[in-house]
Amino acid sequence: MQQINSSQQMQAFALESRRSGKSIALVPTMGFLHEGHLELMRKAREKADLVVVSIFINPIQFGPNEDLDRYPRDLEGDLNKCQSVGVDVVFTPTPQELYPDHFQTTVAVSDITKVLCGASRPHHFQGVTTIVSKLFNLTLPNFAFFGEKDFQQLAVIRRMVIDLNFPLEIIGVPIVRESDGLAMSSRNAYLPTRERADAPELYKALTYAKELFSQGNKNSAKLCQAVSEQLNKNIESDFKIEYIGIYDSLNLTQIKDTILAPATILIAVHLGKTRLIDNLQL
Ligand code: AMP
Repeated sequence: MQQINSSQQMQAFALESRRSGKSIALVPTMGFLHEGHLELMRKAREKADLVVVSIFINPIQFGPNEDLDRYPRDLEGDLNKCQSVGVDVVFTPTPQELYPDHFQTTVAVSDITKVLCGASRPHHFQGVTTIVSKLFNLTLPNFAFFGEKDFQQLAVIRRMVIDLNFPLEIIGVPIVRESDGLAMSSRNAYLPTRERADAPELYKALTYAKELFSQGNKNSAKLCQAVSEQLNKNIESDFKIEYIGIYDSLNLTQIKDTILAPATILIAVHLGKTRLIDNLQL
């Protein structure tokens, strides 16, 4: 396994590999890797000749009062984990390498970035689409793997790839969960004991909505209300619901009344100081 820090070297490696007929799978991450990330890498390993993992805490996708400075890091542990699943290249650029002085270009997807997480994090998705475009240009992947954990992010990237004609395939990977149902996330490391004990309630409430749905309850507002009631009943720590919404799984438009198309219920909750997101296909 190679570690590459420079953009120029990364792109030269990718160009040479593609010219010699090798396919490349990219797994973009912000590090502090867990089983969810490793699952993306295993899927990438099955699909392409070369697996490139990027580890980069992208400053421009964090808002001014978010957790950029305290985002967890463990490069040595991450490199060992990448090695254990057969990654070929780990790309670890610095912020200065990717955003040198005078950097002033961004990539933005308009409508679907305004709802859900985009409503409270107005610059977040533009930061994501800009870095992902740069990573595509530097690693020249045939396939790029993203987790369904960040369901809106996956939809935004799919939109961008279609709209800007990126010559690659986006592959979504189902959410990997802890044994108690909590969706794995690097940010779970922030949770103190009490909040960690409450955190699985998000998935339990989503599962409850899915049960109601399969029993014939097709009204979106009522299902969201049921999720909210479950959370209020079962969470003991301080928490605030940021959103609960049901969206068309394909084009991410909100379903306000009767659910007729394939739909996903999405949720964001602030549990103490930690913001958690989760979603479930109904
Ligand atoms: P992050 O390091 O949080 O930016 O995540 C990097 C990639 O891993 C993104 O595509 C995430 O959606 C994906 N990911 C993170 N957590 C999980 C999980 N629990 N299951 C599946 N994919 C995940």
